[in-house]
Amino acid sequence: MWRATVLTLFPEMFPGPLGLSLAGDALARHVWSLETRQIREQGLGRHRAVDDTPAGGGPGMVMRADVLAAALDAAAPADDPRPRLLMSPRGAPLTQSRVRALAQGDGAIILCARFEGVDERIIAGRQLEEVSIGDYILSGGEIAALTLIDACVRLLPGVMGEEASGDEESFETGLLEYPHYTRPRDFEGREIPEILLSGDHAKIARWRAEEALKLTQARRPDLLARLKPKTTR
Ligand code: SAH
Repeated sequence: MWRATVLTLFPEMFPGPLGLSLAGDALARHVWSLETRQIREQGLGRHRAVDDTPAGGGPGMVMRADVLAAALDAAAPADDPRPRLLMSPRGAPLTQSRVRALAQGDGAIILCARFEGVDERIIAGRQLEEVSIGDYILSGGEIAALTLIDACVRLLPGVMGEEASGDEESFETGLLEYPHYTRPRDFEGREIPEILLSGDHAKIARWRAEEALKLTQARRPDLLARLKPKTTR
């Protein structure tokens, strides 16, 4: 079973949207599991403090390394094989290939920060891998963690209705996906492209490949530049 352990100050945010639909059904079927740990349980003093003022001054508060270490150590033994992720805008941007690798593993231990972030020393101290979900700032790591878990869970065997539906999607091929159409044939004067109604599967496949390429060229030339010739598929 793929296991997610999430350390957060807001465990009530979980499973949240992951309790519904594909991810929620799979959670109920024990295809994956979700454990949340309240970081404040390791907080200091009567007020269970988890943060303190930044060394060197400046605005905001920083999450203490000692508190986070205690929370991580209580959540998982040192030999837990799962990667320890820190949701962080400074991290490596999350990609479909990282998601696929995570989905093929045992799960993840995910630390969600708040305030200005964490004391730098916890990153090396507990070998955290910093992961970003994009170049913008969220108010906390929880929504980033939900995003990462959702992307992983839908790849677990038996989660998506049609096994194949994952394979052709945007990024799996290195390209954006071709456009989709369904009924009605005429929507406010806009027709479904004739070729999709032709029944000629070879032609349709070629058309889709061309459309995917055109779209990627127009919107994400950076993806094309990265595209390596594939030996498989
Ligand atoms: N002061 C920090 C931002 C802190 S935002 C900076 O400028 O880099 C508070 C927390 O939200 C972060 O520590 C992180 O856990 C989470 N977070 C914010 N944006 C994120 C993003 N794009 N990806 C992943 N986590 C993010």
